[in-house]
Amino acid sequence: MPDVVIIGAGVVGCAIARELSKYSLDICVIEKSEDVCCGTSKANSALIHAGYDAAPGSLKARFNIEGNKMMDRLAADLDIHFKRIGSYVVLFEGDDRSKLEELYERGIKNGVEGLRMIEKEELHEKEPNIAEDAIAALYAPSAGIVCPFGMTSAFAENACTNGVKFIFDTKVTDIVNKDGSYEISGDGAFKTTAKAVINAAGVYSDKIHNMVSSRKYNIRTRRGCYYLLDKSAGNFVNHIIFTLPNAMGKGIVTSPTVHGNLIVGPDALETDDRESTCTTAEELDKVRMCVNRNLKNPPLKAVITSFAGLRAHEENGDFIIGECEDAPGFFDCVGIESPGLSAAPAIGVYVAELVAGKLGAGKKENFISTRKGIPEVSKLSFEERNALIARNPAYGNIICRCETISEGEIIDAIRRRPGATTLDGVKRRVRAGMGRCQAGFCTPRTMEILARELDIPLKSVRKSGPDSLMIPNIDLNEKFRQSE
Ligand SMILES: Cc1cc2nc3c(=O)[nH]c(=O)nc-3n(C[C@H](O)[C@H](O)[C@H](O)COP(=O)(O)OP(=O)(O)OC[C@H]3O[C@@H](n4cnc5c(N)ncnc54)[C@H](O)[C@@H]3O)c2cc1C
Repeated sequence: MPDVVIIGAGVVGCAIARELSKYSLDICVIEKSEDVCCGTSKANSALIHAGYDAAPGSLKARFNIEGNKMMDRLAADLDIHFKRIGSYVVLFEGDDRSKLEELYERGIKNGVEGLRMIEKEELHEKEPNIAEDAIAALYAPSAGIVCPFGMTSAFAENACTNGVKFIFDTKVTDIVNKDGSYEISGDGAFKTTAKAVINAAGVYSDKIHNMVSSRKYNIRTRRGCYYLLDKSAGNFVNHIIFTLPNAMGKGIVTSPTVHGNLIVGPDALETDDRESTCTTAEELDKVRMCVNRNLKNPPLKAVITSFAGLRAHEENGDFIIGECEDAPGFFDCVGIESPGLSAAPAIGVYVAELVAGKLGAGKKENFISTRKGIPEVSKLSFEERNALIARNPAYGNIICRCETISEGEIIDAIRRRPGATTLDGVKRRVRAGMGRCQAGFCTPRTMEILARELDIPLKSVRKSGPDSLMIPNIDLNEKFRQSE
């Protein structure tokens, strides 16, 4: 029986798992999807916010600021792609200047370092592609960009190295408090018992909480759609560019990504469907119009894909983090919408300390604090590449041409723990299929490697979840006869 069960393997669950693995505890993460980072953590703006947006005194403000400060150390220890490139919230002619000043005041109260207002001349010098009627901006040098997949996988792998177990494809369906411990039931006949439970279930965190508590929470999801542009557009802006925030979110962002693409979005649309991560022409049009208005001739012809993420908005508006009042030993992370990615490292530390304190667990002496990422052939010098290929020729066999990803990297992604078991799992870990052709070329070759490494028939290889077989299980001859 594990001491602690964490429900959800998004960035929050994995950050907590890693922090908690510093203590002498038996820990298990239960995830309904087939991999880590399959929920909101895979579909967001990929920003480490500076922390001026949330109300002073709120948990959002506190954990955003603390999480932001932890990122340099974490990036070094866990080999996470992270760049502190700074952000501008831009004021255009006709915008309400007092709203920008309000953000500045809030940022100062929250403790954001280096925050300052800049005027038109400096803004246009730093960002020549911003629209002519941009007249001022709030500059936050501590804002950064990160790879959210890499960050989540890094937490999970390091947690795994330190003894945390991950159980995938298992949806928690019921939790019962029995004599001071929790009986957790899941898909099929899954059952386990734990002394403590951590609810990190993203858009379902209210449902998980409501299984054990009489104080009910209610999450309404807000969808945000994005365009991702090719690397040819990656240098169009030098910083993260925001418009003024509104009641539904932080406004539309244009930002370089750590991998050299350009991301634009999101809009915000309330939806009752917690699985609906489709994009619609209407929502994408809003993004397009906003970008066209804010930038000079934005290179939107370079769009390579679009995607959407779901904000876990709880009615009370702030993060809800801590031990549940009427369920001792049950710890909530509810309503972790933006800035949840930025806050995750600090939430991890806070929740791990609470849980370890509750269970009276001490720190381990043999905690391994570092993790090495998968070698990136495309970033190596000619000599380094040759040396790697001499050691293992699979690093010389390029599978994804757009991103220059080798067979060796894909094998590494599959053999890691927790490792990739699907095409999307490979894509999130090493970017095979993330490039300009969006997996048009490398899919069959990556499928062959997955089948070989996982020792499964080619027809069992999946794109992501259970209903995503790449080779449909149908008799084509029969279909053909039916259509005649
Ligand atoms: C459009 C958009 C833009 C954003 N941009 C940013 C940004 O730039 N910077 C920032 O800091 N934040 C941003 N955020 C917020 C950030 O992405 C989230 O706060 C963060 O990813 C939440 O992580 P999580 O682990 O709580 O949730 P998730 O990543 O959703 O993980 C929850 C996990 O729980 C699992 N789960 C759910 N129910 C069950 C169950 N019954 N049994 C087992 N498993 C279950 C899910 O499958 C999922 O994997 C953005 C969010 C959105 C939607």
